[in-house]
Amino acid sequence: MWRATVLTLFPDMFPGPLGVSLAGRALTSGLWALETRDIRDSATDRHRSVDDTPAGGGPGMVLRADVLAAAIDAADVASDRPRLLMSPRGRPLTQSSVAELAAGPGPLIVCGRFEGVDQRVIEARALEEVSIGDYVLSGGELAAMALIDACVRLLPGVMGKCESGADESFSEGLLEYPQYTRPQTFEGRPIPEILTSGDHAKVAAWRRAEAEALTRARRPDVWATRGGRKGSKSTTDG
Ligand code: SAH
Repeated sequence: MWRATVLTLFPDMFPGPLGVSLAGRALTSGLWALETRDIRDSATDRHRSVDDTPAGGGPGMVLRADVLAAAIDAADVASDRPRLLMSPRGRPLTQSSVAELAAGPGPLIVCGRFEGVDQRVIEARALEEVSIGDYVLSGGELAAMALIDACVRLLPGVMGKCESGADESFSEGLLEYPQYTRPQTFEGRPIPEILTSGDHAKVAAWRRAEAEALTRARRPDVWATRGGRKGSKSTTDG
């Protein structure tokens, strides 16, 4: 079973949003597992301290390498599981890296806090830094939840229809086409006629054209990644 092991100073934040709706139902029905471990349990001094001031000076506190390494070792995860550190310096998370993680056994995820973690534990435990975007959160927990949520919805049996992930944004290097539902007219705006025509080929062509136009206009960077894989089924975009 796909499993996420989360190392955090705030285990009470979990499952949080992962406990409701699609991910929550899948968690309850045993389609994936969540293990949350408190980093503080690996502190050794009587104050249970996990952080200290940065060497060289500067503001804030840094998570200690020895405490974090002990927490990682105590989690005792199988060697084939990816070991990730949520970090704004990391490799940006993409739908293709999400799909790769979802296809594996599931990661160990370290959530940073304060100014971050001591560089030596990143190296000594070969943590792979992963970012969810070019902005700074106050902790890795929300980033870990975003990553886990994106993975879980791709697990077999989690989404209703087995193809419902196939058409989505980024799945083919395209943003998704616009969606509509009832009522037929909303504040004077009708649903585009073609969508109610019943002509499946025309609907598919319209959606394709809309998706392409949206992607070109909004995300030239995503559009540019399409060059190398037109007509191929592969979705490797780095
Ligand atoms: N001083 C650090 C930021 C620390 S923010 C720096 O400038 O790079 C505290 C923690 O929040 C980080 O250790 C990381 O685990 C998490 N975090 C913050 N922003 C993130 C992002 N964009 N993606 C993933 N994790 C993030």
